[in-house]
Amino acid sequence: MKYKKFISSFLALICLTLLLPAQSADDIPIQVKRLGERVIVLKETFMENNVVAIASKKGLVVVDTTGLPSTAAKMRKIIEKEFDRKDFVYVINTHHHWDHSFGNQVFADAVVVGHERCLEPMRRDAGFMPRRVEGLKQNLERQKQRLEGLTPDSEEAKSTRTDIATLKRALADYSEGFVSTPPAIIFNDRMNLNLGDMTFKLYYFGRAHSGSDILIHVPEEGLLLTGDLFLDEGWLPLFAGQPVLDIPRWIEVLKAVLDGEDEIKQVIPAHQHFWNRERLAMWRDYIVKLWNGVNAAKAEGLDFAAVQNRFPLEEKYSYLKELGHTGSELQRFQSRNVEAFWRQLFESAAAVVEKTITESGIQAAIEKYHELKAKQEKKYYFGENDFNALGYRLLMNRKVKEAIEVFKLNVQAFPDSWNVYDSLGEAYLVNGDTELAVKYYKKSLELNPENNNAKETLKRLEKK
Ligand SMILES: [Zn+2]
Repeated sequence: MKYKKFISSFLALICLTLLLPAQSADDIPIQVKRLGERVIVLKETFMENNVVAIASKKGLVVVDTTGLPSTAAKMRKIIEKEFDRKDFVYVINTHHHWDHSFGNQVFADAVVVGHERCLEPMRRDAGFMPRRVEGLKQNLERQKQRLEGLTPDSEEAKSTRTDIATLKRALADYSEGFVSTPPAIIFNDRMNLNLGDMTFKLYYFGRAHSGSDILIHVPEEGLLLTGDLFLDEGWLPLFAGQPVLDIPRWIEVLKAVLDGEDEIKQVIPAHQHFWNRERLAMWRDYIVKLWNGVNAAKAEGLDFAAVQNRFPLEEKYSYLKELGHTGSELQRFQSRNVEAFWRQLFESAAAVVEKTITESGIQAAIEKYHELKAKQEKKYYFGENDFNALGYRLLMNRKVKEAIEVFKLNVQAFPDSWNVYDSLGEAYLVNGDTELAVKYYKKSLELNPENNNAKETLKRLEKK
C-alpha cells in the first residue's frame, strides 16, 4: 500500500539527515488556507496533513496536530497570528495514529479530546519511541547510501534532500522531549462540545481505519472532518483497517450526519484534498450496497469465490483512476473490501485458535483448527491474513514453535499463496532452521518472482 511505502521511505530518509543541516522553523513547509472568518486549514506539504483550526467564542480549537512536534509548534504560531489570539481550549484527535497526534504536546494549555480507544495506543507510543528512533536511524543509513548513487542535481536527489532535512527534524523531535499526550476528555459514543457560538458534534464512527476514528461535525460552519476514513488521493478509503468492522454503526453515523438537518458545505479529510457532501454520500452508498449484498449472498448460501465475483467495483468509482490509482490497485482494493465485509458474517477461526494456544497449547490448537474446518466450516472464517497475522504475533512474543505450526496450517490451506511460504520461511529462520528457511523462501519466490524480501534473504543466507 502506498501509505506503508511512504512511511518506510519516511523512516528511511531520517538517516541521511545527519549529514545535512536541520531545517529551521522557516523552512518547515506549511500552506495556510482560510475557509472563512473563523476557520483556517494548515497543510503540511510533507505528509499532506490537513490541520483545522477554528476560532470559537470560548477559544481556539485545533483538530489533529501532525506527526512532528516542531511542525505543530510552527502551526501554533501561525494560528495565533491568523486569529490574533492564543486561547487554545481544545485539541481534538480524529484518531490515535502518530501522524495525527504526536504534535499534541505543543498545545499543553488546551484539553485534548478523543475517542476512548485512543488512550491505550497513545500511552504505548512513549514506550515505543526508542524503538522508533532506532528504526529511523537504521533507515537513514540506508537512505544515505541511496543518495550517494543519485546524480546531485536530479529531481530525485533534490526531493530526497528535502525529505532528509525533514527527517532529521523528526529524529530531533523524537529523541528529545517527546511527551505522549493522550486525550484528557474521552467519549465512547457521541459527544457535543459547546463552544458558545458553535457546537462540535463528535461521533464515534466504529472500528474501521484505526479503531478510534471519529467524525467531527461543526454545523455552524458547515464542516465535516473525517480523519483518515475517507481518502481517495494517494490513499484509498480505508474500510478494511481492522479485523472487526462496525459496519452497521458506520451506516447509522453517516445517516445521522448526511441526512440530518444541518447543511454540510465542506468535507475535510485529515490528508490531501477536500471532499464535498456528494462524494461522501457516494461512498456511503458503496458501504450500504456492499453490506446488504454480502448479507444477501450469505442467505443464498454462496461461497466466498462466488461472492468475490459478484461485486466488481462499480463504474462510478472509476474516478479514482484520475487520481492516480491503477486498475490493479483498484481491483485489490475492491477484493479486500469484499473480503472484509464478508468475514464480518462469520466467527474468526484464527481467534479461536489463538485462544486455544493460550489456554491449552499448540497441539490442542491444531486439533481445534481441524475440528472447526471439518465440522463447522460454514460458521467460521479461515482467513489467510488472519492466520498470517496470528503467526507474526506469536513470533513477536517469542513463541517460535507455535508460530511455525500456525504458518504450516496456512500453507496447507493456501498452497498457492506466495506470502504463506515467505512467512513460514521467516519463522524457520528465527528458529535457526536455515535449510528449511531456504526451502520455503525459494518456494515463495517461485510463486512470486517479485518477492524482494525472499530474494534478499536468500542472497544473505547464501553468503553465509
Ligand atoms: Zn491514520
